[in-house]
Amino acid sequence: MDAQLDLAPCGYFSISDSGVIQSVNQTLLTMLGYERSELMGRHIESTMSVTNKLFFHTYFYPYIQLYGRVDEMYFTFRTSDQQDVPVLLNGIRQTRDGESVVDCVVVVMRKRIEHEKDILNTKTKLQELYQATHEANKELERLHEEYEVKQQALIKVNDQLETMASTDLLTGLKNRRFFQLKMLESLEGFRTTRREFSLLVVDIDHFKSINDTYGHPVGDIVLGNLAGLLQSVSRSSDVVARYGGEEFVIILTDCTAEQALVTAERYRSQVASADWGAYNITVSIGAATVAEEDTDQSLFQKADMALYASKTGGRNRVTHAAGLIQS
Ligand code: GH3
Ligand code: MG
Ligand code: MG
Repeated sequence: MDAQLDLAPCGYFSISDSGVIQSVNQTLLTMLGYERSELMGRHIESTMSVTNKLFFHTYFYPYIQLYGRVDEMYFTFRTSDQQDVPVLLNGIRQTRDGESVVDCVVVVMRKRIEHEKDILNTKTKLQELYQATHEANKELERLHEEYEVKQQALIKVNDQLETMASTDLLTGLKNRRFFQLKMLESLEGFRTTRREFSLLVVDIDHFKSINDTYGHPVGDIVLGNLAGLLQSVSRSSDVVARYGGEEFVIILTDCTAEQALVTAERYRSQVASADWGAYNITVSIGAATVAEEDTDQSLFQKADMALYASKTGGRNRVTHAAGLIQS
């Protein structure tokens, strides 16, 4: 056997049709732990376990006989010290020097099997990771939903707080703070759109005597009822607020001085003609309409002066600030 085949990077042997070893290279001898002299002339089956002998008989011989070759057969040889060596076996039957021989090459499969195990391990780990990721995602979704619910609850609480912060507790109307913000907003709107708005200041006449006669709790009920009446007379775009005590303010959006007078008169007459039971409730109203130079304070002052005029003029009446300046 030439040196190249003897030391080739795969095992090589040839056997007779009956399985007797006729040549074997050094690579295979090293693989199986034999000296050349120990295997030459011996039967190839002496390098196999009983089970593998059976397998060899069942597949290798019939294939070689039938097709003249065996390709990529997974097989296991046994070393001289009884260790199994997994191999890939290729065989071909040919005639040499007038005799039929079977030439075989043997490639050790250990590495490949290890690689397969590695691949399998990696696959298992990947599956575990996918599972963990899936569970983490589900948990994340659950937390997200929980967060959404809490977020909604927070928005609701904030809305409630917002409402509370802008509501007058006794009457349920908007409070002074809200009114002041709306005044600034209305002035801002007037400067950009040039659309006039008006302000009414409404004060109950001789309210002190209601308290004095019927008591403070009854006075509170009257304040609540009057608030409801003012609200019911107002348009949805108007802002009705309790300024403090028995004094109310109404911002009339998109409203000229003439319209403000008419509207104020409607409020006044509705209060005067409402059924207050044993009491007689009237209001005095001061009106003012926004002018170019106005601030929130100057506009309020004008309406307040008009209210004062209504009071001094006999109460249960309406005065517009514009009328005051002219007279
Ligand atoms: P005028 O016609 O000049 O406005 O007379 P008036 O009695 O209404 O005005 P005055 O300023 O003399 O008295 C206002 C009264 O309003 C005094 C106060 O007891 C009462 N008042 C203020 N706030 C409340 C409240 O929240 N509840 C009750 N019941 N009374 C209040
Ligand atoms: Mg009063
Ligand atoms: Mg008052």
